Amino acid sequence: MQKITDLLSRPFAERIARLALKDVTSPWDWFDSLDARASGSLCNICWWQGDGFQGVAHSESATCPDCGSIARDRFLFYCFICCSPRKQYRVLETSPRLGAPYREAMARWFDYTASDFDERAHRTDLQLDLQDLKLDDDSFDVLLTPHVLEHVPDTGRALEEIYRILAPGGRMFLQVPVQQGWTTPPLVPEFHGDRTEVYWRFGFDLTHRLREQGFVTRLLCTDGFYHQVKKGVRRWPDPPSGEFDLPSMLAGVELANLTPISDEEMTRRLCFHPGYMFLTWEAEKPAR
Ligand SMILES: [Zn+2]
Repeated sequence: MQKITDLLSRPFAERIARLALKDVTSPWDWFDSLDARASGSLCNICWWQGDGFQGVAHSESATCPDCGSIARDRFLFYCFICCSPRKQYRVLETSPRLGAPYREAMARWFDYTASDFDERAHRTDLQLDLQDLKLDDDSFDVLLTPHVLEHVPDTGRALEEIYRILAPGGRMFLQVPVQQGWTTPPLVPEFHGDRTEVYWRFGFDLTHRLREQGFVTRLLCTDGFYHQVKKGVRRWPDPPSGEFDLPSMLAGVELANLTPISDEEMTRRLCFHPGYMFLTWEAEKPAR
């Protein structure tokens, strides 16, 4: 099993090593090195380029044939890099979906720590409960937290703890599934693929929870989603994926809280379609 993993990981690592010879050594260098005239698909995590991703256009699909990133992995990473000046950050990531090659690349680019709650679905450096972080105050500059907060019973306690461990000026990039306008508990017991219970189905009011905790917050989205909301659409142009309550989402979303960060070309090349599936909160602990 280990051998197969090594084999699969080789192209990712090799490409990053090869690009390092041309002084492409960080995600920011990679963005700067992109050929504006090219038009194929791009993976901003492993720097793969090709004709198209595998699977359908969906946040949980459009899989990179090399590193295995799905579209929401790429959006989270895109949000982090595009909203952050080039710097050596202390990065904590809770339950990264991608395996060892991804974590090795992150450790090459950042002072990187990966954590998980119970180490069942994810193997990481550190076991952490977001409600009780055994970490020092002000100890990280960036927290990446993809699809974890909905599995935490006490949202307020988790946000307090996250605020505490972020350095002043530090930011959390927070992704949760947003499938409805307002936050509620699930009506029936709900579990995600790795059998982890869902305690909260979040909506756009999460922005206000983050602000109550003291974070300076904006909700990052694609230009396409922003323009639909700005037009005031109440129906999505294409039939929505069944698990998304689009009428509720479009009623609950607040234009003033949205910040579009991905233009049409990047949205197409990294496959951030359809737009309503790509939302990431940037929550900053103000500098003192
Ligand atoms: Zn990739």
